[in-house]
Amino acid sequence: MESELVRTILAGIPRPIVLISADERVAAMNDRARQMFGSAGIGRHYITVLRQPALLDSVEMTLRLGQTRSIRYLTTDLTREATFEVTSSPIEDRGRQGALLCFEDVTEREQAGEIRRDFVANVSHELKTPLTALLGFIETLKGPARNDPKARDRFLDIMEREAERMNRLVRDLLSLSRVEAEERVRPSTRVDVVALVRSSVLTLRPMANDAGVRLIVTGHEDPVMVPGDSDQLVQVFTNLIENAIKYGGAGGRVTVEISVLERELAFRGPGIRIDVIDQGEGFDPVHIPRLTERFYRVDSHRSREKGGTGLGLAIVKHIVNRHRGRFRIESTPGQGSRFSIMLPTS
Ligand code: ADP
Repeated sequence: MESELVRTILAGIPRPIVLISADERVAAMNDRARQMFGSAGIGRHYITVLRQPALLDSVEMTLRLGQTRSIRYLTTDLTREATFEVTSSPIEDRGRQGALLCFEDVTEREQAGEIRRDFVANVSHELKTPLTALLGFIETLKGPARNDPKARDRFLDIMEREAERMNRLVRDLLSLSRVEAEERVRPSTRVDVVALVRSSVLTLRPMANDAGVRLIVTGHEDPVMVPGDSDQLVQVFTNLIENAIKYGGAGGRVTVEISVLERELAFRGPGIRIDVIDQGEGFDPVHIPRLTERFYRVDSHRSREKGGTGLGLAIVKHIVNRHRGRFRIESTPGQGSRFSIMLPTS
């Protein structure tokens, strides 16, 4: 069955294809299929080549009954686990029934679905906790604590905190979805990063004072213009400085260092670098690759206690990507952390 024309057509199809003749042998495979099953399979009975039971069943149904079948096929190639959707369709082979197997790689689609499901589960969980607390207190205020002014005041304070937590979560979720939607469009207006850093520091100074933390800005002082969205950049600096005060404040000092980069290798051009450095507890560097994932926290209890949503660094990452910049994290347990933003100036 493997004529020159069949070979040419199979070679042109950008996914693995296996052709099985009516005598149940592998008649042809294109290069991609050869990579999966090996070239030695040609001419052999399909059972010895395909092996996986679900795949064999679907081929059998096609050969015996002329039915089209679709199944999921899991495999591991050299680098990763992959999921394929395999369609086995009947084809005419000299008056008898052959089968054509077409493999579609659905790994990324399935991963995207999984990420979406995880995200919805996480959001629901994050909202459910304060909501349950609120419902509980409302119930108590309507019943046992109805005539207890002292308890009422205390409960109202807690309810306010829980409602604020939900408010922050919704605000961060909206912010994240807006940033993600705009991520491909680099801002075109030019803004002064140094002024934005200083304004973020000014806003957070009272918080630092309350926490007993000295907030210091060092380095370059003159304006540095970058193509940027000023609200979003303020959000980046605010999130990082706020985290440094919240989680690294034990060191008593948070430094924001501004330096001009003549030529940054990461984006092959001039830029500006802002480092937010604390001398707090730091964390094990194993967490670094996951820290910018939504809802990932080193210490969930601590983050919740500090009113964290677990979205701050995810927002930072997306904003920095939109600005075609780089975001680096370093930390040494017991010594503190350094969060660095590098932005191209042209
Ligand atoms: P959160 O709302 O929990 O603060 P973020 O995305 O801003 O969420 O941060 C994720 C986690 O990273 C935090 O929960 C915390 O565990 C850790 N983290 C962030 N900044 C620091 C820091 N300066 N020092 C130590 N841990 C930090």
